[in-house]
Amino acid sequence: MSNRLAHSFDKSKLEAVCLRRFFFAPAFEIYGGCAGLYDYGPPGSALQANILDAWRKHFIIEEEMLEVDTTAVTLGEVLKTSGHVDKFTDWMCRDTKTGDIFRADHLVEAVLEARLKGDKEARGEQQIEQPKEDEKKKKKKVKSSAVKLDDAVVQQYETILAQIDNFDGEELADLIEKHSIKSPESQNDLTKPVEFNLMFESSIGPTGQVKGYLRPETAQGHFVNFGRLLEFNNGRVPFASAQIGKSFRNEISPKQGLLRVREFLMAEIEHYVDPLKKNHPRFNEVENVQLQILPNEVQVEGKTDLTKITVGEAVKKGIIDNETLGYFVARINLFLEKIGINKDRLRFRQHMSNEMAHYASDCWDAEIHTSYGWIECVGCADRSAYDLTVHAVRTGQPLVVREPLPEIKIEEKWAPEINKKKFGPTFRANQKIVESTIFALDQPRLECIKKDFDSQGKSDIQAADGNKYDLTPELLTIEKKTFKETKREFTPNVIEPSFGIGRILYALLEHSFYAREQDEGRTVLGFPPLVAPIKALVVPISNSKEFEPIIKDISLRLRKNGVASRVDDSSATIGKRYARNDELGTPYGITVDFATVKKNTITLRERDTTEQKIGTVEQVVDAIVKLSKGEIEWPQVDLPAYSGVQDAD
Ligand code: AMP
Repeated sequence: MSNRLAHSFDKSKLEAVCLRRFFFAPAFEIYGGCAGLYDYGPPGSALQANILDAWRKHFIIEEEMLEVDTTAVTLGEVLKTSGHVDKFTDWMCRDTKTGDIFRADHLVEAVLEARLKGDKEARGEQQIEQPKEDEKKKKKKVKSSAVKLDDAVVQQYETILAQIDNFDGEELADLIEKHSIKSPESQNDLTKPVEFNLMFESSIGPTGQVKGYLRPETAQGHFVNFGRLLEFNNGRVPFASAQIGKSFRNEISPKQGLLRVREFLMAEIEHYVDPLKKNHPRFNEVENVQLQILPNEVQVEGKTDLTKITVGEAVKKGIIDNETLGYFVARINLFLEKIGINKDRLRFRQHMSNEMAHYASDCWDAEIHTSYGWIECVGCADRSAYDLTVHAVRTGQPLVVREPLPEIKIEEKWAPEINKKKFGPTFRANQKIVESTIFALDQPRLECIKKDFDSQGKSDIQAADGNKYDLTPELLTIEKKTFKETKREFTPNVIEPSFGIGRILYALLEHSFYAREQDEGRTVLGFPPLVAPIKALVVPISNSKEFEPIIKDISLRLRKNGVASRVDDSSATIGKRYARNDELGTPYGITVDFATVKKNTITLRERDTTEQKIGTVEQVVDAIVKLSKGEIEWPQVDLPAYSGVQDAD
């Protein structure tokens, strides 16, 4: 096997390969580009398609998930109900003089990291890195200068950095003031952080009256269809819906290439489970999967040490809340490894309490280490019953599971009854939302309103539209009634693994990129065959006419088996042709020569080892098909090594 670590990773070289071979490029480049928007070229699109294909097989097919494809243009009311209109925000601050805009947490992070780097340089622990000229031009980096800090300050900064995702606006404002954080280029003061909603707002139709947004996640499209999905699944949980689709976020200050963009592809799973039964029937299949984890308590102590643990132990010890969440964490780990992510550079980090999205009750992010640090690539959240409950209350649709009880249950319950004659005229257009809010109230809240009626003759509720409404005994009565229950009714909890495909693709590019040990200039993208854009390169030794029918035949055989191949019949040397395709990550090369004409033999070259084997056309094609599908690996290709002797008559 080649030594991938012979040369240190060089980001500028990878960026050059990505552009030169058109993996991806800035969108609207000929117009000067637009921050946070990228287009994928042929190898990038093929790599993405292969990652998605692996994802569909690993999750949708393996777990019999119900696939949906819902609209990206989303009714404003849906995102108001889900909480995104009010809470899907990041903290933004400005340079008080130049007006330059920053995402507050990212700025604090960058400044403190730069100071720590400067401290290390001053202590002689780190070489001062001179950024390359083109990098200097491209990025407004926060510069570090070699200044030694007090040990206590270093400790303080490290603690802040370990908790950086946990601060709200006030806390970020305090940090900016306390640590004299200024606008990096100008050293001007910064404004206090304000909330900025990340959704792209629009209106639907010509009147401008119907508010709409581009969805910031695909999840709401699953939830609003829950009733139909449940019916499709014969009224039973657990089951999962899955969707691959674009999402849109108007990021405050997108840098970091593909890692923070304004339009990106997501693959999201919503797994619906009985809140009383969060065990998973297939948990035993994954309990020995080894994870690297960073639990909440460790981060709260200001540390980032990783623990190696099996998922079985993590659930048993209560570190991961339940089997279903643990099952998905393990499956995510297996998927990322399968497509070529280096497992030593993969960790699961638990969210801290403030950091958790407004809907989540526990959350573990799969973070992949890149040259930009640890990057969240998959969020795995327990969204509890939040989304289904708020949509049910808002629409009056019962987004619940009804399960037959083993025996009939007789129960006394508080039951509201509405006086229609008074209720309608009092609430007019809001009648439906007030009514559905009342019918969604739980027993303690109904009892409370009844007590208010008895003691004060009135009460109030906050309805699903966020407004308060006064209630009186004339509008509704609340009495205890006897109910015969034959069914248990519950709102399922939702476990949501949410994959950012672009981030995974970029991390994979970094983890796959290396330079040949003997020649730093010869770079390779060592993708696993499963996801490589093109699986095989066919190279004739010369442009002799005799090779044409053979090449056609090999291409046809590969095509028939769904294996993407290319022919390179240019006049460059074979070595050069292979080198070009190493950069595209093509794992196998076939050389057609005069022995092929005479003896029907071709050589098969493996990209990483550069080893060559020889066999008949049929044998080599068969091996490539099996290798591409991941059915065998290179050492299992049962063909003799090519030594050149085989060519001799
Ligand atoms: P979230 O809903 O914020 O947990 O995001 C889910 C996943 O989407 C993350 O794990 C990322 O992989 C991806 N993601 C979120 N925001 C962006 C962005 N601006 N650019 C690229 N990927 C993103």
